[in-house]
Amino acid sequence: MRREGIALVLSAPSGTGKTTLIKRLLAEFPHFGYSVSCTTRQPRQGEEHGKDYFFLSREEFERRRAEQAFAEWAEVHGNFYGTPLAPVKEMLHQGQDVLFDIDVQGAAQLRLTLEEAAFVFILPPSMAELERRLRGRGLDDEATIQRRLTNARQEMLEARWYDALVVNDALDAAYDALRAVYLAAALTPGRNPRLVEELLSR
Ligand code: ADP
Ligand code: 5GP
Repeated sequence: MRREGIALVLSAPSGTGKTTLIKRLLAEFPHFGYSVSCTTRQPRQGEEHGKDYFFLSREEFERRRAEQAFAEWAEVHGNFYGTPLAPVKEMLHQGQDVLFDIDVQGAAQLRLTLEEAAFVFILPPSMAELERRLRGRGLDDEATIQRRLTNARQEMLEARWYDALVVNDALDAAYDALRAVYLAAALTPGRNPRLVEELLSR
């Protein structure tokens, strides 16, 4: 029986292991839909309009924003980015699950525009381990690591309003928890609006 799609929203402080967990999730469930964002930044070499982003002028972006066409939007490094709402709603209605890898501010907006989404916050097992992972990744200089750790404390205070908290200590256990949240989300009455009537008619 066909159900509504799940908007699975994942947030985590940088370095927690969100990318690692998402790769595992997509390897097991490759059917997730992808939301193409709008941006006012210039396309980079090889980027395609409609595939990587919808590249819009600032005027066009502001016009759509005023029309409430975005599920969420943000200004990053002087450019605007937004998630178009209508295609996401359509995918969900078609039963297509959609994954959002998004920061706490974007997620807070999605909670207002996509109330039916499942919000998962991925936490590091400790601040000391988060620092170890940031250093181990070897991507950031000292100042960036300190900034990410400060931001992590702020972001983790927002975890309270998410639907599920997954602590990424041992990776296999964290993945099992994330997978369980996803699979349980498929069973809610809201995502199976016709199930009971159909069973009653048999
Ligand atoms: P994020 O996307 O949240 O910034 P990454 O997935 O890039 O984080 O992971 C940050 C670092 O931590 C990587 O080096 C990754 O291999 C490592 N890592 C991820 N999960 C775990 C885990 N459960 N235990 C130990 N190291 C981990
Ligand atoms: P880039 O310009 O390098 O593709 O992306 C820059 C930043 O914008 C990244 O941190 C990325 O996560 C963020 N971003 C991309 N699309 C969106 C979006 O639709 N909404 C929000 N809030 N941020 C986005």
